[in-house]
Amino acid sequence: MRHSSAARGACSELTTNHSALFTVHCSLFTESMPTATQTVLRLDHVSKTYGEGESSVEAVHDVSMDLDAGKFIFLMGPSGSGKTTLLMLMGCLLRPTTGSVHIFDEEVSSLAEARLPRVRRHRIGFIFQGFNLFPALTALENVEVTLNLKGFRGEEGRAEARNLLARVGLANRTHHLPEDLSGGEKQRVAVARALAGNPSIILADEPTGMLDSKTGRLISEILRDLAHEEGRLVFMVSHDSRITALADQIFNIEDGCLKEGSRQ
Ligand code: ADP
Ligand code: MG
Repeated sequence: MRHSSAARGACSELTTNHSALFTVHCSLFTESMPTATQTVLRLDHVSKTYGEGESSVEAVHDVSMDLDAGKFIFLMGPSGSGKTTLLMLMGCLLRPTTGSVHIFDEEVSSLAEARLPRVRRHRIGFIFQGFNLFPALTALENVEVTLNLKGFRGEEGRAEARNLLARVGLANRTHHLPEDLSGGEKQRVAVARALAGNPSIILADEPTGMLDSKTGRLISEILRDLAHEEGRLVFMVSHDSRITALADQIFNIEDGCLKEGSRQ
């Protein structure tokens, strides 16, 4: 079954329909955000098998979906069900064993390895499981390093890192090391880092998993606003049934198979 966040497709429609406000915050950004009804990410019969022979594991099985700009989408499922693998396939960090992944109109699953960093740099912001910050770098430097990798260098990179930290409410924490930040602040640094280069797609792997419920909700609200107010596609893994009300759409995954989910 093809799963869709668009009006077409067999699956249930979204509960909310938000118009995207296109706010491009920084003149450094060259790419404009997509329109709210535009399909940003498309998976066609995507499967991923790790290993070969008897020890092989099919982590993702025949997943098809169209995901639109401006949507805040949750992926839920038990440990080992294929959530991280699916996110990595979406983010071009893994290639599917079979099937194809399109970002806008470009088939990224068949691109040569050398061309993938460009896609990752310009299209995708990743929030990894755990905070995954460099412990010896300040909040500002953690964001700046990612900006440097995305082509923002020197003063330009530093100014943009400050700008992104201010956007997540951390203007007064720029020179703190991760160990001097609370869990919520660390995750905000990770969100700022994911915004480097103004990507159309934000993929977040259990961003609230290590946070108390109030802080988890705050982080989820920041991510929702990045979808609804700025027209990004935000696709987030979460186990937290207390914040499902924030999502436009929920998917469940079990043994690598995706199903349309519902609020609990
Ligand atoms: P989740 O994020 O839902 O916990 P994963 O995508 O990490 O699930 O894992 C799905 C399945 O794939 C699990 O059975 C896991 O053991 C297996 N798996 C994940 N990564 C690898 C890998 N690099 N090599 C082999 N098997 C893997
Ligand atoms: Mg995982």
